[in-house]
Amino acid sequence: MKELTIILSLALAAILLGLLVDELAWCLFGATLIWIWLQAGEFRKVRAWSRRPLRRPDNGMDSWFDISYAPYRVLLRERQRTRDMALRLRELLGLADVIPDGVIQLRPNGDIESLNTAAKKLLHLSDKDIGLGLATVVRSPDFVRFLSGYGDSKSDEPLDFTAAANPEQDLEARLFDAGGGWTVVMLRDITALNRLLTMRQNFVANVSHELRTPLTVMSGYLETMSDESEPEELRLSLVERLTPPLKRMQTLVDDLMLLTQLESTPIAAQQDPIYLPDVVNTAVQELQGLCESPEQIRVHFDSQQTILGIETELHSLCVNLLSNALNYSPSGAPVDISVTDHGDAVRLTIKDNGYGIAPEHLDRITERFYSVDSADARTRGGTGLGLAIVKHVLLRHDSSLQVTSTLGSGSTFYCDFEPIQQ
Ligand code: ADP
Repeated sequence: MKELTIILSLALAAILLGLLVDELAWCLFGATLIWIWLQAGEFRKVRAWSRRPLRRPDNGMDSWFDISYAPYRVLLRERQRTRDMALRLRELLGLADVIPDGVIQLRPNGDIESLNTAAKKLLHLSDKDIGLGLATVVRSPDFVRFLSGYGDSKSDEPLDFTAAANPEQDLEARLFDAGGGWTVVMLRDITALNRLLTMRQNFVANVSHELRTPLTVMSGYLETMSDESEPEELRLSLVERLTPPLKRMQTLVDDLMLLTQLESTPIAAQQDPIYLPDVVNTAVQELQGLCESPEQIRVHFDSQQTILGIETELHSLCVNLLSNALNYSPSGAPVDISVTDHGDAVRLTIKDNGYGIAPEHLDRITERFYSVDSADARTRGGTGLGLAIVKHVLLRHDSSLQVTSTLGSGSTFYCDFEPIQQ
């Protein structure tokens, strides 16, 4: 209510009453007292509000209401801002917890202020370690040196180290200046990355090694051929000998290209319906040259079902498995290849009666260039990539290679495919 209205009403009432009872002065004095009493009431309300200023002020008179309402609005705004900040902080802390990299906040003296879940996991720490020196809880000499050398231009580089808590794991640490002497340590698990780098180095070394052998042989022959002091007959006979190392290099390059293609290109969305016995028959015919007799490879088909796939890749799978079965068996030993229904799947099985594979090698034979006995495998003309190709072809056909083998008795390689539903 407006004060002016109250004052006027009070004055009017006092004047009227004063004239009526002929006591104008007393009536005006009474009205003044009532006015003071009303003001005191409003003042009390402001005082009560100031004790709990987040409550809406309940002054009835406008000027008193305005006194408390302006700060009340400011306080409300501040409260909302604090709530928003708390929410953002909670979100940030939650975010720090979901990122897979470890984040540790260090006080100027090197003690841990806070750390996220990933950091706890990577360094095997817990909330109990908060407040302790990071260098004392992570007992890795390299890491301790790294922390103490922070600020040198050298330690701006990340550090690769192994935490004592998990020697199997390779970690990378980076330090960031968070201002005011505070530091943030970022940690990430680089075990897989290091493994990949090692694999890449091994791969390049293996390819170079595999190419060097036929190249050395060929350059030896070429040297003799270009030596005019050597008899003409010998020089001509060497032309023929160039073919095997050349073929070997060609096979290796073909296998490498096929493997790269299998690894790097996604399988076509549109695949063809394939009747596996047809693919097997083509592969068997192609490999007759490796057989002692036409009956050495025995085929058995007991499935009418077709599968979805890529014919060239499945052909390459059959050729690799069959040629291995022939190559790693005594000359003339029979090899069985079958396509059968197995539960809901179509199963391709290649069984040999050859040398077999010792159990400790079974997990690794699909690795590139892995061979149980490298010297023996290479004299058999293998590139060391056959089973890696098989593995990738099967991956692209939602299948996987299964092997059972007994040293000295032979091996069985098999894989299951999902048939096209009729
Ligand atoms: P390679 O070209 O050397 O044959 P693969 O990748 O085809 O390479 O095979 C890897 C290794 O697995 C071979 O070197 C060989 O030692 C072993 N292996 C593969 N198939 C057979 C098999 N049927 N019998 C025995 N050993 C096998």
